[in-house]
Amino acid sequence: MTCSQTSLKSLNTFGLSVSAERIVYARNTETLIESWKAHQEKPWLLMGGGSNMLFLDDFEGTVVVNQLKGISIEQTSEEWLIHCAAGENWHEFVKFTVKEGMAGLENLALIPGTVGSAPIQNIGAYGVELKDVCAYVDILDLNQNQMLRVTNKECLFGYRESIFKHQYRQGYVITAVGFRLAKEWQPTLSYGPLKVAEASLTTPQSIFDKVCEIRRSKLPDPAQIGNAGSFFKNPIIPTRDAEAIKRHYPNAPFYPQCDNLVKIAAGWLIDQAGLKGYVANHAGVHPQQALVLINLGGAQPKDLVNMAKHVRDTVYNKFEIWLEPEVRFIGPMGEVNAVEALS
Ligand SMILES: Cc1cc2nc3c(=O)[nH]c(=O)nc-3n(C[C@H](O)[C@H](O)[C@H](O)COP(=O)(O)OP(=O)(O)OC[C@H]3O[C@@H](n4cnc5c(N)ncnc54)[C@H](O)[C@@H]3O)c2cc1C
Repeated sequence: MTCSQTSLKSLNTFGLSVSAERIVYARNTETLIESWKAHQEKPWLLMGGGSNMLFLDDFEGTVVVNQLKGISIEQTSEEWLIHCAAGENWHEFVKFTVKEGMAGLENLALIPGTVGSAPIQNIGAYGVELKDVCAYVDILDLNQNQMLRVTNKECLFGYRESIFKHQYRQGYVITAVGFRLAKEWQPTLSYGPLKVAEASLTTPQSIFDKVCEIRRSKLPDPAQIGNAGSFFKNPIIPTRDAEAIKRHYPNAPFYPQCDNLVKIAAGWLIDQAGLKGYVANHAGVHPQQALVLINLGGAQPKDLVNMAKHVRDTVYNKFEIWLEPEVRFIGPMGEVNAVEALS
């Protein structure tokens, strides 16, 4: 279905007043293919919930909103095997599985967006990542009009990484995700605030409720204040650089990785750089969550870009660490390299 309305304001969680030449709502794969064939000579962009995007300007082409729906469930004696269409809302899907007694996704509650976007950056929260529960991802090759199934291993999942940001980025649509959830439930309570409440978190529903409670208290609701969640990735730095920081800041939050590397919390770096609550031209750094950049109302794309630049430069000047955006930057002709856009 092509919509006469071309504003993208309600379709991106930053709430930026940008538009597209055309917006198509795809409820089936035929619409996806038709729209690709008819409009691919101009920019063509697929969207889910628009919760991981920063539009830099009006989009000079077709935006296709993925609305493929449907969930089917099979089981063995040991596992639930759930096939979920890409246009289903992620949080509603998690809620459904928990309610139906299929545990495993409860730590990933309240993440905005669609199921189809979840594998792209291997969404993660509270000690669980999509890679831990994903069996496969189904994609449609728009040029060949052919469906492919990509196994978990083939997805090349990493921290906010997967093959869908590289080899399967242009000309492919994620149409469904397969989940494998063990019937023998193992709660994941390693993350601080869950660990503290461990004694009361004895069911998947109680973890789901707790995660929702923590997230609602910590993160701004995009319906109230425009944002795209964590704007930057947590940088991964050599252990020796981390040790140098630790000498000045003994309480710096570090998470050891393999190969003599350490992950450091980007929000902490921004906070230490004195930017929590910093505001300029309707854009800001959230006063409670330094990793979240916000549209205070009426911000233009350039205001958020300037804010991101300022944050990135200030953190570099203090710690000699360049932050890399997690959010995807969308220019008038399509996605652009976010680091280059801020350099
Ligand atoms: C308040 C808030 C909290 C958040 N918390 C978290 C968190 O805890 N953990 C986390 O990992 N993320 C978090 N995010 C980021 C975001 O919710 C996730 O990245 C989510 O998966 C994005 O889904 P979306 O459907 O909105 O993607 P969109 O923003 O619509 O799209 C993102 C990218 O995927 C592409 N794309 C979308 N759908 C498809 C498809 N079907 N096939 C191929 N390409 C596609 C788009 O072209 C774009 O490049 C948060 C965001 C917000 C606003």
